[in-house]
Order: sequence, then C-alpha cells, then structure tokens
Amino acid sequence: MNPGQMRSQKKEKGRRNVAVPPNEFPEGNKESPAARQPQGPASPSDSERSRELLEWQTKFKALLNGLPDLVFVLDAEGRFLDYHTSGPGLYLSPSVFLGKRHDDVMPPELCALFAPAFQRAKKGELAEYSYPLEMPDGRRWYTARISPWMVNDEFHGVVVVIREITERKVLEEKLTAQTITDGITGLPNRVLFLDRLTQCVRRLQRAPETGAVLLLFDVDHFKFVNDAVGQSGGDHILREIGVRLRTVLRPFDTVARLGSDEFAVLVEGFADETEALRIAGRLAEAMKPPFHAGGHSLTLTGSVGILIIKPPFADPSQLLAEAELAVGKAKQQGAGSQVIFDVALHEHASRQLELERDLREALEREELEVYFQPVVELTTGKVVGVEALSRWFHPKKGEIVPAEFIPIAEESGLIYALDRLVCRQACAQLAKWLRDHPKLDNEGFWVSVNFSPRHVIQASFAEEILGILKAVNLAPHHLKIEVTESLLLGSFDQARRTLEELARKGIDSCLDDFGAGYSALGYLLNLPIRVLKMDMSFVQQVPGTSVAEGVVQTIVGLSDHLPLSIVGEGVQTMEQAHFLAKCGCRFAQGFYFGMPMPAARLEELLRNL
Ligand code: C2E
Ligand code: MG
Ligand code: MG
Repeated sequence: MNPGQMRSQKKEKGRRNVAVPPNEFPEGNKESPAARQPQGPASPSDSERSRELLEWQTKFKALLNGLPDLVFVLDAEGRFLDYHTSGPGLYLSPSVFLGKRHDDVMPPELCALFAPAFQRAKKGELAEYSYPLEMPDGRRWYTARISPWMVNDEFHGVVVVIREITERKVLEEKLTAQTITDGITGLPNRVLFLDRLTQCVRRLQRAPETGAVLLLFDVDHFKFVNDAVGQSGGDHILREIGVRLRTVLRPFDTVARLGSDEFAVLVEGFADETEALRIAGRLAEAMKPPFHAGGHSLTLTGSVGILIIKPPFADPSQLLAEAELAVGKAKQQGAGSQVIFDVALHEHASRQLELERDLREALEREELEVYFQPVVELTTGKVVGVEALSRWFHPKKGEIVPAEFIPIAEESGLIYALDRLVCRQACAQLAKWLRDHPKLDNEGFWVSVNFSPRHVIQASFAEEILGILKAVNLAPHHLKIEVTESLLLGSFDQARRTLEELARKGIDSCLDDFGAGYSALGYLLNLPIRVLKMDMSFVQQVPGTSVAEGVVQTIVGLSDHLPLSIVGEGVQTMEQAHFLAKCGCRFAQGFYFGMPMPAARLEELLRNL
C-alpha cells in the first residue's frame, strides 16, 4: 500500500468520482481531512461548535503527526481519497494515486493481499498483513493494517495504516538463521537437520526405492582436545572438521553439527550398506591430516554410526535415536570404529531402557540386596573383613549381574542412590555384627564398599559417608571405600581432597582392580590409598609363567616400600593362595575362601571365628 509500490505509469483517472474530493485536502501536506480548519462560523452556536471542532482537529492532527505511519483513506469502492504522512515514506506523487482505485495503482501481488483485507473490512473486521518492497536502497518490509471506516454502521471505506518494520524483520531473519545454523561451523544445526530428515522421509515415502543413509560422526576424545588447545582452539578444529566432512561429500548431501563434537550426514539416493561404509570411510579419511590449533598439531579420529533408512519409515527423531545407538556402539568398540545400526542393537537398547526403569523402582523399594564376600589374612586364614557387593534379583527376569546393572546405573545417574543404599545397608549390618560379636570390633573387622568414581568426586561425598556412619552408629575405621583406577583419569584433585578428608576421619581407601586399567604409580603416591586390590587377572595366572609371577611379586613388593596393604582378588585355588602368601601378600579374597553370600550365611561364618 505504500505509494512506492504503486504502478506509477498509470494515467490518472476518476479523480472527480471520489466521495470526498481530494483537492479539499492540500496535496503533500501533513494534514488529514479532519485536521483541516472549517470555513467561518455562521452563528454563535455554530461558532461554539466550530471552536470545539477546531480543538478536536488540532488534537487529531498532533496525534497523527506523532505517528511514524503512513495513512491512507480509501472509499467504499476502494479508491484513494486521502493520505497522511508525517515523515518520509511517500515515494510517489499523490497525483499518481489519489482518486484512483487500488487495483489500478497497486501491483498484482499487493492487490492479492489487499483485496481480502478490504473484503473483511466491509464486514466491519480488522485485517493486517506484511509485505516486502524492493526499494532503490534495498529490500524494505511493511505491515499494513486495514480498518473499516463506518458511519452509522454503514461501510464508507477503509483506513490503511502502513508502518515500516524492516529493522524488526532483519532481526527476525537473523534470529531465524541463528536458530537453524550452528554458530561455530556455519553448518545446519539439529533443528535444520531434523527438518531435512523430515523432508527426506517424505520423499522416501513417495519413492522408497531411492533410499537414504544417515551417518552420525562423533569426534573421539574431543574433551581432551579442548583441554589441550582451549575453547577457541577447539572451535577452530570443529570448523575445520565441518569443512573437511563437507568436501568429501556431494554438494547436495547434508552435513550438520548436532552439538558438541557430533556431526550428522544425510546422503540420499541409495540404501546400500557397502556404499554407506564407503562414505563412512571417506569421512574417516578426511580426518587423517593433522589438525593445527593453539600451537599444537593433533591427529583425530571419529566414530561413525550408520543408519540405512528403510521402510517402514520411522519418524526423524526415532531415526536419529537409532543412529545414536549405532554411534554409541562404535564408541564402545574404540576410536575410529564404524557400526551399522541393526535390530539387535535396538533390542539391546530397549532392554537397557527397561532395566533402567526397573532398577529405579527396585532402588525406590530398596529391593537390592547386599552380599558379603570374606577377605582373609593369608598368614592366619582369619576373616578380617568383608566386601559388600550388590545383588539384584529381578522378580521377572531373575538375577541380573552387577556387570549388567552397574553400567546402567552409571549412565542413568542411579549409581548415587545405589551406592548409598549398599553403603547404608552394609554399614548397618556390620554395626549389628559388631554389637553381636564384640571381639570383631576389637580386631578392627571392616566392610569395604564399592563406589562409582563419579560419586567419589561429588563435593558432598565425604559428608554423605560420615552421615551414614553416624546414622548406623559405626566407627569410621570399620569402613573402607573401594574405587577403581578410572578415578585417576577424571577429577583427580577433587578425589584426592575427598579421600584425604575421609582418611583424616579414619576411613581408608582401596584401589580396586589394580593393574587392570592404566596403572599410574605416580598418581598413586599422591592419593591417600591404603589398600591395593590386585586384579584377579594377575592372581589367576599364578603360579604359572615367570612373567605373571614376576608381575604379582612386583605388585606385592610395593607394600614393602609404601604404606600399603595388598589384597589378592579372585583367588580360586589353594596354589594361588599359597603363591600369594609366599610373596608376602597380606590379604586375599576369592571363591576359594568364600563366595559373596547373604548376611545370614556370613553370620554363621563369623560365629565360628
Ligand atoms: P569388584 O569390586 O572387583 O568385586 C569383585 C568381583 O569379583 C565380584 O563380582 C565378585 O563376585 C567377583 N569375585 C570374587 N571372587 C572371585 C573369584 O574367585 N573368581 C571370580 N571369577 N570372581 C570373583 P560382582 O559381585 O559380580 O561385581 C562386579 C563388580 O561390580 C565389582 O567388582 C564392582 O566393581 C561392581 N559392584 C558390585 N557391587 C557394587 C556396588 O554396590 N556399587 C558399585 N559402584 N559397584 C559395585
Ligand atoms: Mg571391589
Ligand atoms: Mg575388584
């Protein structure tokens, strides 16, 4: 409706047909019909009315002048009667449009917007629309608000108020771009990727034979990259990865960054596993040249999860979830792996989800049991302590072993509740045994409880443990904390502070499965570890090869130089027990001495001590 969009070539016509002759309203002025001064009064009452009218008109004029809008008045036939502007914005001479019908001066695309609004106004309704105009200085955006001009319920025409909204529109467009592209790489983000996937699925539903493949590419160990080269170096590498992935694909394939170090690729036109693996290979190849950032040269790999999109087509978020499963499996298999999604993966994930739900319920109902495995002193054969091990007897699925439910608890965050429950039950049980057998109390009989490394580095961990001991009335030196070496890879300082605090209170820490992971003796010296539990993989190889025997002797020998006790784990034979004793290993546990057992069975054992 801005005169700028009107067809300026048109000849003027019909000007005299307008309901209020335009020449009554001086052209190009900043006045509206109502803002004009009437002719001289004819009588005192007329003069009174004229004064009121004049006052009203002045207010009205001031009001209009205060608005940044462009206002047009059109009659009931849609002819331009008048206009008002208090600033720039009128790009055409009023003579080009005044008195003319809107469809004579507006271009068809604007007429298409205006005509329905005009029809609504005829019914007394308000209408609004926005539109762009190509101006000499670029594209500008406007909104037009069309309101009916009614006199005594009779439609006289419309008032069109036009306001420029270019700035708002530009901002909106910028925001929209930000919401669909990734700020670091400039690639489509998750929102846009899901949209492309949706479009792709629609196309496949119409023509399934065309096929499509979804690949998720997850950079391996990216956290360490960020640690090494800092945030901006990390961003630089992500950008570079985006460029490299792009270059090994066809221009019309989609590459997106879904978040942190995860990229997604959508390739249409085939549904063949060999071809999908070939593409995954190209992605891997693209990563081979070293990356440079922050003065470092880094070699990186990515794990790839591949999903062949087949009928019946799931919805895009389900497809993405399936590809996530495949990439998760690839990560488990090791850096640089590639895994194609299959139904077994889905079934496994469903079981995991089901177990997670059941475990949550089991924890709420405190259905997990604590078993105890005796730890013996090798020289005397006496049971000096026990290790608490959780047991889950699922009402429908039977016994579920810790190797299956502990990782689920870790991933779902249920591990905190699980460890707490086991610790509380184990400590309460031991407190009871000590009351029943005071001799054990004097001998410093202990229970060791396993904790997830994630749990130990929680700031509240020490407080939590001390709270449990207080609640069940157990002296701190009867409890030992078992943690695995993976603790050393995470927040080492936090772990050290916590374990030191517990050590000051008299609670020893044990390093579990020692030797099974990345043993770092340097770290060991900096942690208040008092017990090393030698992994059963060593124990079960002795007596045997000289290498295995040498390793076991070396580990046991650590206790000669460091304030450490060694527990040999997984002792299953008398020979193993003898070998450990001969090396000077102080403690041992394993099926040879006793299986993990319910409290009642262990109680019988204690009675005979
Ligand atoms: P772990 O702490 O190293 O516990 C020793 C594991 O070795 C136990 O397996 C035990 O049953 C098994 N074991 C003991 N003696 C022998 C033997 O002579 N031969 C063999 N082959 N195995 C033996 P379990 O109970 O299945 O627990 C596995 C792991 O799950 C534990 O290893 C521990 O890391 C974790 N876990 C168990 N309960 C808990 C818990 O309450 N919290 C946490 N965070 N982890 C737990
Ligand atoms: Mg343990
Ligand atoms: Mg162990």
